Amino acid sequence: MKQSAMKANTATSKTKTSSSTTSAKSHTYVYNFGKQTDGNASMRELLGGKGANLAEMAAIGLPVPPGFTISTEVCTYFYAHERSYPRALSGDVKTAIALIESQMKKVFGGKDNPLLVSVRSGARDSMPGMMDTILNLGLNDITVEGLASISDNPRFAWDCYRRFIQMYGDVVMGVQAADEESHDPFHELLDALKKSLGKPQDSDLNAGDLQVLVGQYKELIRKRTGKAFPQDAYEQLWGAVGAVFGSWKNERAILYRQQYGIPAEWGTAVNVQAMVFGNAGDDSATGVAFTRDPANGEKAFYGEYLVNAQGEDVVAGVRTPKPIAAMEKELPESFAALEKVRTKLEKHFKDMQDFEFTIEKGRLFMLQTRNGKRTGLAAIRIAVEMVKEKLMDQRTALLKIPAESVDSLLVPIFDTKSQKEAQMIGKGLPAGPGAATGRIAFTAAAAEIESRKGNKVVLCRTETSPDDLKGMLYSQGILTTRGGVSSHAALVARQLGKVCVCGAGEVTINYERRTLSAGGVVLQEGDYISINGTTGAIYKGLIESADSEVKRVLEGAMKPEKSYTFELFQTVMEWSDKYRRMRIRTNADTPAMAETAVAYGAEGIGLCRTEHMFFEGDRIDYMRQMILAVDQVQRREALKKLLPFQRKDFVGLFKAMAGRPVTIRLLDPPLHEFLPQDDAVRRQLADKLGLPLEFVIERIKALHEENPMLGCRGCRLGILYPEITEMQVRAVFEAAAAVMTAKNPVPVNPEIMIPLVGFKQELADQLAIVHRVAKEVMAKNGIQIDYLVGTMIEVPRAAITAEEIAEQAQFFSFGTNDLTQTTLGLSRDDMGLFYDEYQRKEIYNKNPFASLDQTGVGKLMQFAVENGRKSRPDLKLGICGEHAGDPDSIEFCHRLGLHYVSCSPPRVPIARLAAAQAALREKK
Ligand code: PEP
Ligand code: MG
Repeated sequence: MKQSAMKANTATSKTKTSSSTTSAKSHTYVYNFGKQTDGNASMRELLGGKGANLAEMAAIGLPVPPGFTISTEVCTYFYAHERSYPRALSGDVKTAIALIESQMKKVFGGKDNPLLVSVRSGARDSMPGMMDTILNLGLNDITVEGLASISDNPRFAWDCYRRFIQMYGDVVMGVQAADEESHDPFHELLDALKKSLGKPQDSDLNAGDLQVLVGQYKELIRKRTGKAFPQDAYEQLWGAVGAVFGSWKNERAILYRQQYGIPAEWGTAVNVQAMVFGNAGDDSATGVAFTRDPANGEKAFYGEYLVNAQGEDVVAGVRTPKPIAAMEKELPESFAALEKVRTKLEKHFKDMQDFEFTIEKGRLFMLQTRNGKRTGLAAIRIAVEMVKEKLMDQRTALLKIPAESVDSLLVPIFDTKSQKEAQMIGKGLPAGPGAATGRIAFTAAAAEIESRKGNKVVLCRTETSPDDLKGMLYSQGILTTRGGVSSHAALVARQLGKVCVCGAGEVTINYERRTLSAGGVVLQEGDYISINGTTGAIYKGLIESADSEVKRVLEGAMKPEKSYTFELFQTVMEWSDKYRRMRIRTNADTPAMAETAVAYGAEGIGLCRTEHMFFEGDRIDYMRQMILAVDQVQRREALKKLLPFQRKDFVGLFKAMAGRPVTIRLLDPPLHEFLPQDDAVRRQLADKLGLPLEFVIERIKALHEENPMLGCRGCRLGILYPEITEMQVRAVFEAAAAVMTAKNPVPVNPEIMIPLVGFKQELADQLAIVHRVAKEVMAKNGIQIDYLVGTMIEVPRAAITAEEIAEQAQFFSFGTNDLTQTTLGLSRDDMGLFYDEYQRKEIYNKNPFASLDQTGVGKLMQFAVENGRKSRPDLKLGICGEHAGDPDSIEFCHRLGLHYVSCSPPRVPIARLAAAQAALREKK
């Protein structure tokens, strides 16, 4: 025992700064708040969020009922020692109770003027409603009489007593409903009594009735547990403390911790606090409030309260609370006191607060405060306005905004009320944020027809291919039943800023019958469906949505001065740009995409997927002709047709980017994405190219790959068919020359990128072509074009041999989509089947294709950075996988020392903020 008590002390000395903690005697497990306050807001680890903030509020003179916090160390001890306590605890608790008694001028367990306390949990991060609470503790058959006479309100005293027995019986003594089907046994007794007395409401019961109920409750406990309801106040207290510590490991709490990544080792603190009574009459009340509106961030007092009630009544929803504004009339003095507290809280905590209060006979008491949860819009508005109000500086404000919040200013949004009323029929992976509603179209052609009729469309496919691009462009949103967050549909949707839910495995699409079935509902083509790309939810029917104001301003459809949301957006972006170190580029394949990205603040293109430039119109067919070619002659013929398209596109890109760097990746088409699978399309293609259908079918068969993601992709294609690389490089340099020598010349800054390299020889092979063609074009035009040539790091071998690869490459761009795929040995397109189970079992905390697997893939990146720099100290480093738009991954890239991240256009603003936050956190 001695040894273990010593152990707890050793653990403490790490968290406490006071040197006195090294001696076992002076070590404390109990921290008072009230007249004497031992803790403060910075001690969350030890006191939990609630305990730390109660101490802080008491210290700054806010009216907090006195109490004490039993630290989280005791929780750790409790679980390490078969649910027992350190020896010193009982003495510490007694001393702390005496301190409350002296402040309240009441006696714990005293018969005339009893002190009642509440016992509440409080972990480092709030876990609302997950653990147990006990109110009115200290009441027994004798003290209830004392409370009745001192309050001159026997009904109130007996009501407190019956509530206490009910809570204690449930939480501490385990008297609960037998199973999910049956009712709470205490409620059953209450209902039976009301029925037998013909009194429908709880409030109809008088003191005598409640006294009868107390007798019945005690009898119930005796019958169920074989034990009497404890009469001794200290016995009650220890029972309650044990139950609260015990509730750290209840099922609800464990589930919550899993959901929010809270470690089990943190443990909870226990707060014991003098009861104040919001149910002491009509001059009493209890409520919860926010210092600002948590939905839109407006500086308006927001909250609700109930007169003559205890906190649990507000939460339980039995009575409907009134809006806080009504209090100004009903309890004007208390309201004025509350307003003062509201201001003081914000000034002190420098953040929007969510607090609980009780008014006892006109006197205000504070029971809790914490940083309030808020929507993305509110987070931004509050941060910006608090800087204006000089409550915080820009750096602090930026760190307070979850980077993802920026999205809520950009994406189309569902009307909250309509969404609530809509019927959810399924869920997929949230792949392109925002809200989309429209008629179901199962093919690109159907989407086009619907859209031309003036209807909104959601394109629903098992998976998408380049054939669907047109349909995607005509649609508000895309729903797929297969594929992950870096599947074709998701990539393209995000780049286009389209809403996308992908990999919805429980949704079945039957193309023949033209039906979509999910959640027991069967929808036909043309029926309305709605998808929320931020949550992955799929709804039956139509839900209203609208373009964001920021988007309208950036597109010139709205004047900036007309939109406060835009002002907020601009402010946050300007501040972010001031503090970030990394550059933000974008993944864009067309001039239109590039322009959007520049409007969002992109400083360059980090990835132009040239194969995506062949999606539109006739190009896809020439691309297919090129792939189907059996020899160089046929291939050159197809390439000749593709060259002008490529050149024209690069001209557009260079112009749109106006001298900013443009990284052009050589062709990297997973073949299965480009070859038509559909008989009708194959026939059309054969007709168009003047080829026999049998030839087309045979070639497609010959080109079939079992693992197309690991087949003839990337540089392998250029090595096999050098004429492809040659055509592409020629197009780049001829476009550059054209733009540079035009009547209104524009500077160009091309960076040629070789994909899927694993061997330095692969890179050397392609580099030779790049330099040769570049030289030829420059000589022909008599100009010098400055350019870089680098590689993607997409396979582990490239990362492992980074030192020799960097001898040839002027830059590395981490293609973390493929690097994740190849490092994890996990297909980007085929994780739908097991993903849910992996998440449930916490094998993946986050989808590794959405947020970098820092411990695995991240290690390889780090190795590549360190070793690449060994042979080329000025190696330029970036990332262009989908992870480049994920705030956690962005922070990781900052720590690695990358020069830029390149994400899809709509994520550029998020990346700007996340990069600033990474820089600010590093300085902290
Ligand atoms: C990658 O692999 O991360 C990448 C950007 O290339 P793609 O997604 O086109 O394979
Ligand atoms: Mg790749």
